[in-house]
Amino acid sequence: QTLLLTGANSYVGSHIIQQALEKGYHVRGVVRSESSTAGVRDKFSAHSDKLSFAVVPDITKPELFEPAFANPAKPITGVIHVASPFVLNVEDNKRDLLDPAIGGSLAIVKAASAYGKDVRRIVVTSSFAAILDVMQGTRVGYTYTEADWNPMDYETATGAPGGAAYCASKALAEKAMWDYVAAEKPQFDLVVLNPAWVFGPHVGGVKDTKHLNESSHMLYSIIGASEVPGFDFGGFVDVRTLGAAHLAAFEIPEAGGQRFLMGQHFDYQSVVDSLRSELPELKDKLPEGTPGKVPESYAVDGSKAEKVLGIKYIPLSESMKDSFVQFVEADKAV
Ligand code: NDP
Repeated sequence: QTLLLTGANSYVGSHIIQQALEKGYHVRGVVRSESSTAGVRDKFSAHSDKLSFAVVPDITKPELFEPAFANPAKPITGVIHVASPFVLNVEDNKRDLLDPAIGGSLAIVKAASAYGKDVRRIVVTSSFAAILDVMQGTRVGYTYTEADWNPMDYETATGAPGGAAYCASKALAEKAMWDYVAAEKPQFDLVVLNPAWVFGPHVGGVKDTKHLNESSHMLYSIIGASEVPGFDFGGFVDVRTLGAAHLAAFEIPEAGGQRFLMGQHFDYQSVVDSLRSELPELKDKLPEGTPGKVPESYAVDGSKAEKVLGIKYIPLSESMKDSFVQFVEADKAV
């Protein structure tokens, strides 16, 4: 069977493709320009017979997905929707975040309804951002679960700071998909993953630390920082765990119709503490902060994904080590 995956050139998408190909799936990757295919092909040259591409220049237009669903080597039985703008500094919240996120999500469900007669499930990379109530800050004592929804509406999001607008874009995009499925009752169901910060290694390594995806960039910026970064997200999941979760979400029947918060506790003090012992060569390049003093914040409960999807979280120390080994290697190569 073939999985159609949007955002095939993304950090998260690469891990899903890698694990899907290794499990024997065919993958059709959707990218928005032909030039994005080369890098993906290179990463997976060992499986070139099972990987094909569709170029969809505007993911908000359902009709542009028609060729993506046409003539697969094996029927497209699942869609994994990863593509969404993940940038925190934008000029125009509507144009750069909200409209592509919401429009892209609606277009993929409409396109799967219209052209994907064999599609039985769509797995969506939403975010913990769609769960978190940004305005509540660190919310000490509170535990976020799948029952929580980011309450920010479209109008408020248009004038909000970039980070809050990004969070709203993910919540509104996810809601649009649930609403569509509830109203239209298509031939497929939905499974939504809500990962907190995603960290961990890049498939094929990091080529250039100047052009990293947003979460890797945040992490990399700790090197040479004068202070330990302040609180942002109180949870993280390793990208390899998230990749496996997408396939489990497609395969496990009981997951249908559910959302899954994916994350374990995260704070930057724990990052620098663990890197100091795991990678001594970085010791003098990291802010020290107050070793062992973990700042207080809300908790995230990612246990439903362990129970239903059978995933096992990779610990922070391992994820950080594997992330920073790649950053250091990339910088050495320059
Ligand atoms: P990347 O920046 O690597 O990937 C983003 C992907 O979305 C790229 O394939 C990009 O394509 C595509 N995309 C962005 N904007 C558009 C647009 N307007 N039209 C079409 N495609 C677009 O980041 P990640 O891999 O981290 O993000 C992947 C997904 O994971 C996103 O949905 C993100 O919200 C979600 N996520 C990520 C987290 C993290 O910490 N990394 C945390 C929680 C959720 P192109 O290269 O052409 O721009």
